[in-house]
Amino acid sequence: MKFGFDIDDTLLNLREHAFRIYNTKLNKQIGIEVFHALTTISVHEAFGLTVEEGREMWKSHRDEIYFSAPPFPDAVEVLQELVRQGHEIYYVTARSAEHCEKTKEALELAGFPVQDGRFYCGMGDLEKVHIIRTLGLDYYFDDKPAVLDTLTELELQLYAKDNPYNKHLGIPRIVNWRELLGHLPGGTDA
Ligand SMILES: [Mg+2]
Repeated sequence: MKFGFDIDDTLLNLREHAFRIYNTKLNKQIGIEVFHALTTISVHEAFGLTVEEGREMWKSHRDEIYFSAPPFPDAVEVLQELVRQGHEIYYVTARSAEHCEKTKEALELAGFPVQDGRFYCGMGDLEKVHIIRTLGLDYYFDDKPAVLDTLTELELQLYAKDNPYNKHLGIPRIVNWRELLGHLPGGTDA
């Protein structure tokens, strides 16, 4: 079967990583519980920054955040296991074109299975639906409500990667990546 994955905040723990980096750069010690209470995709609110200041902060540190964000626990191992079981893995990320090559390399470096021709990057959030439909994915995983909302009519198994800002969506969700193996036909999450 064909499995498609968003990258940021689906496979990589990007927001929490950004939160930690902002703490360091701004010389603050905002507690992680403040991060967990955030219901916005952006994290600058936790530091009392305005939208404009938040945008500047993100722009200044985006590369560092992108290329040092760690995978969520078991994400690498579960995707490797899917490949072992004979499945195809696709990545569909809206990171901008200038970051695509390095993003692909960083995924490989982190141990994610990246196969030729199965890495899609640089589209807008609302263009993902066209790629996902064309690829004929059987499963797709994303965190962003604006993306997930465009995919509900497709004939595939759609999952939200659980995050505070997508709790309102009434679709199946993955909290920990190990759960995915248990959702497969005949699968176990052992
Ligand atoms: Mg995402």
